[in-house]
Amino acid sequence: MPAELAERLADVDARIADAARTAGRDASDITRIVVTKFHPVALVEELYRLGVRDVGENRQQELTAKAAETAALEGLRRHFIGQAQTNKARAVRAAASVVHTVDRARLADALDAVGGDPLDVLLQINLTDDSGRGGVVPDDLERLAEHVTGCRSLRVRGVMAVAPLDEAPAAAFARLHGYSERLRAVVPDATWISAGMTADFEMAVAAGATHLRIGSAITGPRPDRG
Ligand SMILES: *Cc1c(COP(=O)(O)O)cnc(C)c1O
Repeated sequence: MPAELAERLADVDARIADAARTAGRDASDITRIVVTKFHPVALVEELYRLGVRDVGENRQQELTAKAAETAALEGLRRHFIGQAQTNKARAVRAAASVVHTVDRARLADALDAVGGDPLDVLLQINLTDDSGRGGVVPDDLERLAEHVTGCRSLRVRGVMAVAPLDEAPAAAFARLHGYSERLRAVVPDATWISAGMTADFEMAVAAGATHLRIGSAITGPRPDRG
């Protein structure tokens, strides 16, 4: 199993390097986050031994539990990529180095109210036509950006999105790149673009993604949790 994990990790990294080369980009500008959701903490430890320093979780309880169990892994950055509830802001902040899913002022305020060292946050953008999905609707991006920049303990680093299921990822990522430019008009150094999963990370690299959130291509299939 560990050998297979190492092989899959190396394979994904080679594909990222290829995609970067094709796009005329430097692969060292791209952070590969391994999404470990639903997998046991032993997998996080194994990834750490393989040199992985960025892992992602999408549920607060699992993030919190794994953070406690891996507290000794120095330099491990935990990215929270799931929907955050305002009443879990303290727990998210205690465990995560980066929160990718700030999509409303109330959530930003809840994270900010906890205080502490500056927390890196990304503004999640809804690329679908369904306003019930996670992410701020694009029309409200500037307003949210202005609000979050006013949160003193939060540092707006960029945008995040998930490609819609019913649209070609390349087209969705191209729009996301445009939203990134709009954000940078408000927050000039918010240059991160978190996009790209197992199915579409090469297209995300082509569209300028700086942070890839890759799960099953590296970890193998997720254990079924309903
Ligand atoms: C699970 C998840 C991923 C990784 O998905 P894979 O298809 O396994 O690579 C990326 N981003 C988010 C927000 C996720 O929830």
